[in-house]
Parts: sequence; structure tokens; C-alpha cells
Amino acid sequence: MLPTRILQNGETFRASIVSWFEKNGRRFPWRETHDPFKILIAEVTLKLTGAWKAQRVYEQLVAKYGTAARMANADLAELARAFKPLGLVSRATLLVNIARELNDRFSGNVPKTYDELVSIKGIGRYTANAILCLAYDQRVPLVDESVSRIFRRCFSFSTNREAYADKELWHVAQELLPQRMCREYNLGLIDVGALVCKHMKQRCGDCPISCICVYYTAEQETANLEVENVSSS
Ligand code: SF4
Repeated sequence: MLPTRILQNGETFRASIVSWFEKNGRRFPWRETHDPFKILIAEVTLKLTGAWKAQRVYEQLVAKYGTAARMANADLAELARAFKPLGLVSRATLLVNIARELNDRFSGNVPKTYDELVSIKGIGRYTANAILCLAYDQRVPLVDESVSRIFRRCFSFSTNREAYADKELWHVAQELLPQRMCREYNLGLIDVGALVCKHMKQRCGDCPISCICVYYTAEQETANLEVENVSSS
């Protein structure tokens, strides 16, 4: 059961995020496909990397190694070179190992269940849910650091755990999911986290959920108090 403050604002939160995404969402090639292996490539490429920077690498990888069979037989040195601009060449080995396991255990297909996905070495909760949501249209949450920042600010969570390990946050994210348009909702949260509710310079004036945001309301109240104090002194 969710805390009352979240339950009361859940519908506004979901609707505002989806509607904002429809007008402002970013377009990337991995968002134009439902191919689960390409989405897997994108998730491995995007981890700890800016999306715009990762785009060129993603396009190269998909053009040459767009299936598990092709990736499993990739030349590791060549693949590592493709990752070099991002500085994380170990991802080449990771992708090849995942592709080999897909070939050995799942006939080269990407499975459709969470348990099967996380049984593959190198696939964790976030990547599994990204594949389930973005490739298979399943109703599952995606919580990375920027999405967790939105939940923390908007609903005043005080936990300091990292997103991947924060069970309470994942539970809230699961309970808050919309019944429909889960893909758009999750992508909307990712984009609001990246473009609006930034780590240092949040753009609350442009935020679709400012009307229900605890952090923003508190900031406004402090600013109003300061104005009152100045005018009464
Ligand atoms: S109103 Fe500001 S702090 Fe609140 S979610 Fe939006 S950008 Fe983040």
C-alpha cells in the first residue's frame, strides 16, 4: 500500500508525465524499435553514458552485430574499438558473453520473463525491466538514478540508497505504474529526470509535476517567506 500523499497524487503524476512525454520526449534510434536484442545493446551502451554520446556507438553496433548470433561471433578487439569513444571497453566482453548465453540457452532469442532475463550473467533488474517494457510492452517500472531523484523530490523520500538497491523505491515505482501507456510513462520519467529534474539545476518552472512536488512547494514557501521578511523589515 502506498503512502496517502502518493496515492492522492498518483493520477496527476502519471497523466502529467505521459502528456509531457508526448510533446517533449527525446527521439533515439533504440526508441524506434521493439527488437529486444537491439534494446539490450542500447541498455549496455547507455549505462553510465549520456544518451547523445552513446547514439553513434549504438548505431555502429546494431549495423554490424544486431542479432545474438552475430554478436556471439564478434571480433572482441573490433568490438572494444567501437566502445572506445565511451571509455568502457569491458562492455564489449559483456555483450559477447550475454549473446553467447542467449545462443546456448535460448536459441538466440531474448527471453520474455524477468526470472529468465536476470538468470543471464550481466543482466540485472534495470536491464531486464527495460527489455520487458520497451521490447515486450510489459507493465514494469524503470528506476535509475535520475528517476529516483524525481520520486525523492516529488514525494519527499528520505532514503539515500542507490536506485538499483532501493527496494522501497522500486516498490513505489511498481505501484505507481499506469494501466496503459507504460512505455511512454517510463520514457517520460527518464526524460524528465534528464532534462528537467536535473541533479544540480532543476528546472521546476518547466516541470510537468511541479503542482504536486513536495520539494518545489517547500522551495516556493521559503522564497515567499524571504520576500515577506524583506518587505516587513
Ligand atoms: S518540480 Fe522541480 S524538484 Fe519537483 S520534480 Fe519537478 S523539477 Fe524536480
